[in-house]
Amino acid sequence: MKKFIILFFISALILNGVEAKDYVKTQVKELKHAQKYATTKKVTQNHKQNYDVNNAAKDGVKDPHIMKFGDYKEISKAKYEEKLKKDEEKYKEYAVSLGKKHSSRYTTQADAEDFYTVYRVAEKLIRANKLDYMNWRICLKKDLDVNASSDGSNLVILTTAIFDTFNNNEDALAMVIGHEMGHALLGHHKRRMQLLTRMEKQRKLAKEGFTVSALAYAGMKKKFIIDSKNMEYAADTEGAKLALHAGYNLDQASDVLTFLIQYDLDSDYNSTHPRTDKRLASFNENSKLFLEEWKDMGKYNIYNSEVLPVKLSSDRKSITISVPKNKLNPDKYYAPETMEELYLRLGYMYYKNEQFDKSLDYFDELFKIDQTNAPAYLYASYAAEYQYNNTKDSKYIKLAKDYAQKAYSLDSKNKYIKKQVDSL
Ligand SMILES: [Zn+2]
Repeated sequence: MKKFIILFFISALILNGVEAKDYVKTQVKELKHAQKYATTKKVTQNHKQNYDVNNAAKDGVKDPHIMKFGDYKEISKAKYEEKLKKDEEKYKEYAVSLGKKHSSRYTTQADAEDFYTVYRVAEKLIRANKLDYMNWRICLKKDLDVNASSDGSNLVILTTAIFDTFNNNEDALAMVIGHEMGHALLGHHKRRMQLLTRMEKQRKLAKEGFTVSALAYAGMKKKFIIDSKNMEYAADTEGAKLALHAGYNLDQASDVLTFLIQYDLDSDYNSTHPRTDKRLASFNENSKLFLEEWKDMGKYNIYNSEVLPVKLSSDRKSITISVPKNKLNPDKYYAPETMEELYLRLGYMYYKNEQFDKSLDYFDELFKIDQTNAPAYLYASYAAEYQYNNTKDSKYIKLAKDYAQKAYSLDSKNKYIKKQVDSL
């Protein structure tokens, strides 16, 4: 009874409060919230940095352009455009096959036209990144939620909602498809399933009364959440990397992330996905360290491959992009960057971005596992020299000399290395 009286009292107070409300003041207050939460502001706000890899790296530092990344030859603009024109004929031919299976008799979830759009994007990603070691399936799933997923193998699922939201922004679609392909390529599905299986085992034991298992379960759950978030960051970076290889514009692609910011909650503590503002920050930081050369590598791969055919899959819900029957040498397919490649890229790009301390850290990591790369020692020497100029700390000039000497011992004929040795 007492409780009821208190409740009555409280509700009377609240109701009273409502009655006494100044409705204009409510509008003022609401507008204050809207300043913070307004959707249009979130979607259109300029979260973007300059993702153009070309501009991201400043030209202010010495660069004799002798660092070698990957195995490719530059394709001239004219040659490349001619190839794209030829490819266009093939695309038209293959587009017909999308309508060939009598889709209306089945539960096709999207139209040939929509499938054609995603086909063009996915096909480019596949060829530019040498992902043509297996058939890929892309599904447009009828769903009102903006979402995408993958099954860990070769199936990428986009909801019709995310497709419709970005169907006029191929760069964004490339980012979404690339992200999901990234999960598959980096083996995230398997990693996730392993963690979940182990967790489930402990959860069952805990239920039977094993205290140790209860503790183990709690620990594993925490690890699962951290790992899941890290896998999202990795898939974002990989997706952007795949998209850049295929010639997509990362500035436009980042629209996906700015759009998703609307779904952010205060805390992502228990979520398997990081908050989008954090994903955007990660995207900004990592894409500044992408290589301009990747665009040329992608062009080289597209130039040297033929358009991949597409058809409506047997499931009538997805399309299948088929790979050539006569596969190339398996070594020639996509592989994640090796640690050497990653350290070299980070050392070089931090140098280009004039973050010499970080550049030296990553070159140092590289030299722990590879002492054969003469250009890397030369650039490390440059970085140490700039770092000396900035800090006047004599240890850096010593480091610059050591690295230059090391480069010289590996390649005494290189005129840039010779010049650096002489100048220090
Ligand atoms: Zn993901």
